[in-house]
Amino acid sequence: MTVRVRFAPSPTGFLHVGNARIALVNWLFARAGRGRFILRIDDTDTERSTAAYARAIEEDLAWLGLDWDEFARQSDRMARYAAAFERLAAAGAIYPAYETPAELEAKRTAQLARGRPPVYDRAALALTEAARARLEAEGRRPHWRFRLPAGPVAWDDLVHGGVRIDAATLSDPVVFRADRRPLYLLTSAVDDAELEVSHVIRGEDHLTNTAVQIRLLAALGAEPERLRFAHLPLLIDAGGAGLSKRLGSLALRRLREEGIEPMAIASLLARLGSSDPVEPKARLADLVAGFDLARFSRAAPRFDAAELRALNARLLHALPFEEARPRLAALGLAGADAAFWEAVRGNLATLAEAKPWWRVCTGEIEPVIEDAAFAGTAAELLPPEPWDQGTFAAWSAALGAATGRRGRALYRPLRLALTGAERGPELKDLLPLLGRARARARLKGLRA
Ligand code: GLU
Repeated sequence: MTVRVRFAPSPTGFLHVGNARIALVNWLFARAGRGRFILRIDDTDTERSTAAYARAIEEDLAWLGLDWDEFARQSDRMARYAAAFERLAAAGAIYPAYETPAELEAKRTAQLARGRPPVYDRAALALTEAARARLEAEGRRPHWRFRLPAGPVAWDDLVHGGVRIDAATLSDPVVFRADRRPLYLLTSAVDDAELEVSHVIRGEDHLTNTAVQIRLLAALGAEPERLRFAHLPLLIDAGGAGLSKRLGSLALRRLREEGIEPMAIASLLARLGSSDPVEPKARLADLVAGFDLARFSRAAPRFDAAELRALNARLLHALPFEEARPRLAALGLAGADAAFWEAVRGNLATLAEAKPWWRVCTGEIEPVIEDAAFAGTAAELLPPEPWDQGTFAAWSAALGAATGRRGRALYRPLRLALTGAERGPELKDLLPLLGRARARARLKGLRA
C-alpha cells in the first residue's frame, strides 16, 4: 500500500506546537514509509478562515522544514462537495432539517432535564410532505443532516487500539448548511477518499468525528476499510492541564521570534509521547530514522517549554561554524569567524545572544573595575602579541605570582574588566579575540 497522509489545518489562527506535532508526525510517517505528505487547507469555514492565516501556515511549515508533495485547498474543491450532495441526497443518506438554533437548544435542554443524552431526535425525518411544504412556505430553508446508520462503529486505531462508538450516542451531523455550503465532517471525508489518503493521523479530539466519517465514507461509496486512523493524545502542560489557554504563546511564530531553533521544536515534538528518548537532532532526516508510530502512547504527553529551551541551547552548542556563519551574518555579525563562534556558542540559549559577545570582542563596552591598582598591574603584565589560547594561562599565572591572588580573587576582576559581565565564555578563548590594545584599555578602565 502506498502511504498517503495529509495535514489538514483550518486557517483560523497561527500554527502552535500542538498542530505542529500533528504535522510533523504525519510528515515523518510519510518520509519513513516512502509515501506522500499532502498539505490540505481546510478553509470551508469562510467566517473564520483567512488567506493570511493560510499563508502563515505554509510559512511556518516551511520554517520547520516540512515540505509537502501535494497541496489541496478545500475552497477550490466546492464542485466535488456539490457532487457529493447530489449523491448523498439521491441515496437518501442526507435529509433536510428545519430547526432553528433556538429550537435545537430547547430540545437539548429538555433532554438533559430528563436525564437523556442530548442526541438529535430526528424529528425532521418524520415530517410529512405537507409539513415540510408548510415550513418552506414560512420561509424556512433546511440544513442537511447525515443519517447515521444504527449500530456500533469500530476501528483498530494505530495509537488508541480498538475503538468502538455506538451511533446511538451521536446526533446525525449537519453536513450542509441552508445555503448548501458543506461542513467539515463532509468535506474531510470527501477529500480523504478522493485524495486517496491511506492514514489519517490527527488529534484525539477527532475520535467521534472518525466514527461519523467512517459512515460517511461508506455512504459516499468509498471503502472506509482502506483508511487507517491514528489519534494522538493532546499535549498537556507540566501541571497536567490542557494547553489550550497557552497555545497563543506557543505559536511557532512566537517561538521563532524568541530564537527557538526549528530543530529544537522538531526534536522535541517528534518523540514526545513516544517510548523513544528526546534528543537534539540537527536535521529532520535524523528524526525519520527510527520513527515508528507504534511507539506512541495513548497517554497525554507533557509539553515543557523549559525542555524546549534546553534542547535549543544544546543544538546551538553543537552547531558547526559553517552553519552558523550565514545566520550570524543575518544578525549583523558578518565578520564573525570560527574562533569567535567556538568561543561563545557554549554560552548561548538563543543565537541572538551572540550579539552582545560580538560587541565584547569587537566593539565598545563599559569595563567594570573594582580595584584599579590590581587592574593596572594586570595591564602592565599583558604579554606582547601574538596571542593564542595559551596566553591567558601564562598571563594570569604571572599576575598571580606578582599579586599573591588566586582563584576567584584573581579571575573575577579580570572578567569584569575585560567583558563587563560576571559570566560568559572562557577568558582563554576571549582574550585572543579582544587583542592587546582593547584588553589594556579596558583594564585601565577606559570604554573600549
Ligand atoms: N481542519 C481540521 C482541524 O484543523 C482537520 C482535522 C483532520 O481531519 O485532520 O481540526
